[in-house]
Amino acid sequence: MRRITVAIDGYSSSGKSTMARELARRVGYVYVDSGAMYRAVTLYALEHGLIHNNTIDREGLIKLLDNIRINFAPAGEDGTQHTLLNGRDVEREIRDMQVSSMVSPIAEIKEVREHLVRLQQELGKEKGIIMDGRDIGTTVFPDAEMKVFVDASADVRAHRRQKEMEVRGEKVKYEDILENIKNRDHIDSTRAISPLRKAQDAHVLNNDNLDHTQQMEWLINLFNVITHE
Ligand code: C5P
Repeated sequence: MRRITVAIDGYSSSGKSTMARELARRVGYVYVDSGAMYRAVTLYALEHGLIHNNTIDREGLIKLLDNIRINFAPAGEDGTQHTLLNGRDVEREIRDMQVSSMVSPIAEIKEVREHLVRLQQELGKEKGIIMDGRDIGTTVFPDAEMKVFVDASADVRAHRRQKEMEVRGEKVKYEDILENIKNRDHIDSTRAISPLRKAQDAHVLNNDNLDHTQQMEWLINLFNVITHE
């Protein structure tokens, strides 16, 4: 069975990370959440006073990019991989609303994208990797053997995100979550560099009406077909 690169792209809260993580666990590949990397840069910018009243000090951030180290700690007991920002576990902080509301404008900055794309390509050098994000099949790994584009309605995605937040003990109004999701969809798909697009050769999965088991069946079946070709 050949080792391949798997690129999973899609809209915010489409469930792609859950699918990607589980596929990696089942087939013994490395999983990388590229969104967590953009979130970690956003947290760094917030903590270093580079964001004031929703305005980003772009030049300041660009100068400090080389000081930002992002790694992933191996999955813990809960099965989730923890994101480390300069050695500190920030997995929880990068998921809060403050980071969520600033991450898409940060991800629009050309130098931030170039920096993170380089890191992502480095992580994927050996293949045997599953990465999820917005531009993985189009920009990071355009030659990936398996590309998936996950789609779901904004409403379904907002409900999913709200549930996730509730589990973590965060109470956020449904309307605010929906607005954040729509906002990010808009910025992500209209930005000048590497906008969110389905790669021409991606397989589309709309999971509005699919449960987790059905999605995994679809994904593993595709993986098996491609790795045995
Ligand atoms: O996947 P997640 O929702 O955590 O990603 C957070 C944000 O990071 C996205 O809304 C998008 O703005 C940005 N992102 C990106 N390119 C990626 C992954 C994430 O621009 N490959």
